[in-house]
Amino acid sequence: PHSRRHLVAGNWKMNGNSQLATQMVAALNGQSIDGVDILVCPPSLYLGDFKQADFSLGGQNLSEFASGAHTGEVSASMLLEAGCKYVLVGHSERRTDNHESNDLVAKKVEAALKNGLIPVLCVGEPESIREDGTYFDFISAQLDAVIELVGIAQFAHMVVAYEPVWAIGTGKTASPEQAQEVHKFIRDHIAKGDTDISQKLQILYGGSVKSANAKELFSQPDVDGGLIGGASLDPQEFLNICQAAK
Ligand code: PEP
Repeated sequence: PHSRRHLVAGNWKMNGNSQLATQMVAALNGQSIDGVDILVCPPSLYLGDFKQADFSLGGQNLSEFASGAHTGEVSASMLLEAGCKYVLVGHSERRTDNHESNDLVAKKVEAALKNGLIPVLCVGEPESIREDGTYFDFISAQLDAVIELVGIAQFAHMVVAYEPVWAIGTGKTASPEQAQEVHKFIRDHIAKGDTDISQKLQILYGGSVKSANAKELFSQPDVDGGLIGGASLDPQEFLNICQAAK
């Protein structure tokens, strides 16, 4: 129904090792899937093990600062030099574990854009917000912090991932209808600023996607692929999910 390419992104989180990186490159290289882009986001230490990859690489996080006295942090330019094209920003685990606020997430998006990295902006509501029914307001606030800082035009250089927190790593997937409802809401929200950009924006679904449920989710009109956690650690399973995005 639309002409957007699909994107399937694997988020290894703090899992994997050099050996898995080698296996992943062997499994994915040469697998060109019509209309589908493949992205792997390993821990940044392992980016160097993907030198031979013919698919895209991304970081899982970046600093809002360009350089300097920020021990333990990784900058946008470092990710770029290590071969990244994308970077996850505002993953719910970072919002929770590292107390990343909407404003900090916006600054990180800005830092990524300044360096030519494509931010994959992660948004999504926790279970309590889903239950009290205010999830559209919650997600609007997450988007608006970024829109206010970088401007709507920058969404031409971004990807958004809708990841309901209650579906991440829980085995509890949003139904295709629940995903489509929020994806359409996000697209309509961006359209208030710029319709053309909203039509071109890739919006990924994340939350317990597996090869068994991927096709149904990815066939929703406003779902343009997925952000895959647990299931991205198994090369064959991840490849099957990529194929389901065709
Ligand atoms: C994620 O890490 O972004 C994610 C969606 O995890 P999982 O697929 O394991 O739910």
